[in-house]
Parts: sequence; C-alpha cells; structure tokens
Amino acid sequence: KLHNTILELKGNIRVFCRVRPLLPEEGSTAEAKAITFPTFTETLGRGIDLLQNGQKYSFVFDKVFRPEATQEDVFVEISQLIQSALDGYKVCIFAYGQTGSGKTFTMMGGPGNGGEQKGLIPRSLEQIFETRQYLQSQGWKYELQVSVLEIYNETIRDLLSPNKSWSDASRAENGVSGKQYTIKHDANGNTHVSDLTVVDVCSTREVSYLLDKAAQSRSAGRTLMNEQSSRSHFVFTLRIFGVNESTEQQVQGVLNLIDLAGSERLSKSGSSGDRLKETQAINKSLSCLSDVVFALAKKEDHVPFRNSKLTYLLQPCLGGDSKTLMFVNISPEPSSSGESLCSLRFAARVN
Ligand code: ADP
Ligand code: MG
Repeated sequence: KLHNTILELKGNIRVFCRVRPLLPEEGSTAEAKAITFPTFTETLGRGIDLLQNGQKYSFVFDKVFRPEATQEDVFVEISQLIQSALDGYKVCIFAYGQTGSGKTFTMMGGPGNGGEQKGLIPRSLEQIFETRQYLQSQGWKYELQVSVLEIYNETIRDLLSPNKSWSDASRAENGVSGKQYTIKHDANGNTHVSDLTVVDVCSTREVSYLLDKAAQSRSAGRTLMNEQSSRSHFVFTLRIFGVNESTEQQVQGVLNLIDLAGSERLSKSGSSGDRLKETQAINKSLSCLSDVVFALAKKEDHVPFRNSKLTYLLQPCLGGDSKTLMFVNISPEPSSSGESLCSLRFAARVN
C-alpha cells in the first residue's frame, strides 16, 4: 500500500509521458533528434526536452518513459493503481497524443495484442482476475462488469451492441431516431448509460472476446465513417463489486481505460462539412477534458464536467477521491515536434 500513500500525498492526478521508438520506416536514429532526456539514462525518469525550430523546451512529469521502455516496464508503474480499483477506488487512465504517437499501443498493445506487446488493458485484466482469485481465499467475492463505448462527434456508440452500433450513430446524426444513450449519475456516484450493453465477465478470456468484438464494431464503423477511429474516444469500463462474506464489507470500484481521439490540430481552413464538424467536436472535447483535469488539479470549486460527453460520462470517476492518470504519448519524429510540443504543453497544464 506504500504506492497508494504516495499517490495521496501528491494528489490524485498524475501524468506519465511515453515516447515511442522510431519505426523502421521512419529512418535511422542518425537524424537530428527532436527529443532528448536530460536527467536520466535509464528507461524511466522524469525530464524530457524537445527541440523545435532551434529552441529547446523542457518538461518534467511524474514519470517519463524512454522509447526503450517495454510494455512490462510501463505496467509495473501502474499496477498499484489498477489494484486500487479492486480496493474500491474509481480510476481513470487516459492516453493522449496525436495519431501515430502510440496511444493504442500503450492501451491495447502491439500487433496481435499478445505476449510481450500486450498493452495496459489486457495486463490490467489479468492482474485483476489473478488478484480476485487470491482474495477469494480471504472471503471476498467479486462481480465484474464490462462495457465498451466510443464517443464520436459527441455521440455515444455502444461497441458491444448486438446490433450494429455504427448504424445507430449515423441514424442519430441524420436526425432519424437512433439510440440516445442518455447518461445519468445516481446519488451513489454510479453512472448509468441507457441502452448500453453491460456484460458480466468471469475470466480474461471473456474480456478478450469482448475487446475483439469492440474492435470489430469500431472498424465496421470506420470503413463507413471515414477512418474515424482516430477521431473518436474509446472508453473501456470495468465495474467491480466486491463483498466479503465473513465481514460483510463491501467495495465498489471502477476502472476506466480511455484511448482518446488524436489530438492533432486538423487544419481548420482545409476542412468543411463532416470533417469540420469532427474537428470541432474533437477540439472541444479534448479542451473540455483539459479544463476539467486542470480545475481538479487546482482544486477549483467549479469543475466544468457538463461541457462534453466524455467529461460528463466520467464525472464520478474524475472528482473526489478517484485517481486519474494521463499518459501523454509522444512520437520521436522531428517532423512531429510541433504536435509533440502541443501535447507536452497540454500535459504540463494538467500535471
Ligand atoms: P495511436 O493509437 O496514437 O494512433 P499507435 O498506437 O497506433 O498510435 O502507434 C503507431 C505505430 O507505432 C503502430 O504501428 C504501433 O505498433 C507503433 N508503436 C507505438 N508505440 C510503440 C512502442 N512503444 N514500441 C513499438 N512500436 C510502437
Ligand atoms: Mg490509435
């Protein structure tokens, strides 16, 4: 529990920065480096420097992962946070960054999502199911429920819907009544999204099945809706209900793992119609998220949760004694340094 104590001392919002390696097609490391790590030589430290147009910008975060950091290196640093969801905390982990910066790699994993390349979502579930088994011997019984949704243009789409959820969304956008997925929070801080599919799960295998299904309905939407997966927020939610049969203690935790829409600023002048609408929706919801996290970090009285679907959906999991972790994913390419600077500034604002 040492780690939890440290979390509390330092507040409930942390920011981890992860720089992905250069991909083979991006050329050699001999090229001018846009990113350097001033304060450490190991895979994990706190400082990061960005070079852009001959100017050096320095940032410090709770942790900075160099490109060499493995999925396991990253998971080791968050496993206590995952554990706290089983202890009854509400936890949100976000991946923020431009398209191609490694958000999905961090969250879901590399090609195939298996083995060493497994990301944080499958690793978290493995840990939760293992711990659950161990806690059973101490009288704890846990029920786990999964839902997976996507927010695109401020419209919720159920990725586990037995019906093709993309058609709901496109119908809703065309003004024909599709499912509305209304968000409601009850007095106990539980969130209900009407019509959303919620599945009881008992094993990692069941969850992998659901994740595959979610990925399929996401890409089914993509061919029809113009490569939109990088322009939607992907929200994986695990609800945890625990009861101890001998002590009658109860806990309720929530783990939200969120792969955010790409943060790149699509040029406004060049976009029109649907693309312009998308751009505005993404800009709006990411800046709302930043406003909310910033207000929470500064302990402001008014937190503008209602300004976007995403922040409203996650409201009970962002305030109070909940725990928030923001990954800011960075591409090492010199040509991305403009976007990287924006991402680092975003992260520095909420840190
Ligand atoms: P995003 O979801 O932010 O658009 P991706 O996660 O799809 O970005 O990453 C872009 C590419 O870089 C993918 O081919 C991915 O496999 C690769 N990649 C990202 N992060 C890493 C990493 N840490 N190690 C190896 N490859 C990575
Ligand atoms: Mg992605």
